[in-house]
Amino acid sequence: MTRSGIGYDLHRLAQGRKLVLGGIEVAFEKGPVGHSDGDALAHAICDALLGGAGLDDIGTHFPDTDPRWKGASSLVFLEHTRKLLEERGLSISHIDAVVILERPKLGPHFPAMRTALAKALGIEPAQINLKAKTNEGVGEIGRGEAMAAQAIATLEG
Ligand SMILES: [Zn+2]
Repeated sequence: MTRSGIGYDLHRLAQGRKLVLGGIEVAFEKGPVGHSDGDALAHAICDALLGGAGLDDIGTHFPDTDPRWKGASSLVFLEHTRKLLEERGLSISHIDAVVILERPKLGPHFPAMRTALAKALGIEPAQINLKAKTNEGVGEIGRGEAMAAQAIATLEG
């Protein structure tokens, strides 16, 4: 059986925070505000995987009230989600994601992100497709006050 799940995440951006995205650090003057490392791409992928597996959402498994996840690398969330999928006999066929961020340019960082995400999920980088969009200068994302990510995951099992 083929199953699919969708994920979405948004984080505010603040000066002096590290920009962690897709499991890697990207040099930039602002970064996400969040309980964990605020990796919106990893969070959207995590939600897509949990959704496809019928396992609720990231907040259920990794509540931001839990001190275990304070400052946690979001790759840990993906590794844990991978275990949950394996326990249910589900395998990841493919992930597609969009990051919506005004700056910086993400294309040059995508190969490293795909490698880091694939390693955490136990799949090949070729099973992950990443895309970047700006918000054309409109709204919170366009003004550089926030960033968002959307993902879809296809599972077999
Ligand atoms: Zn998040």
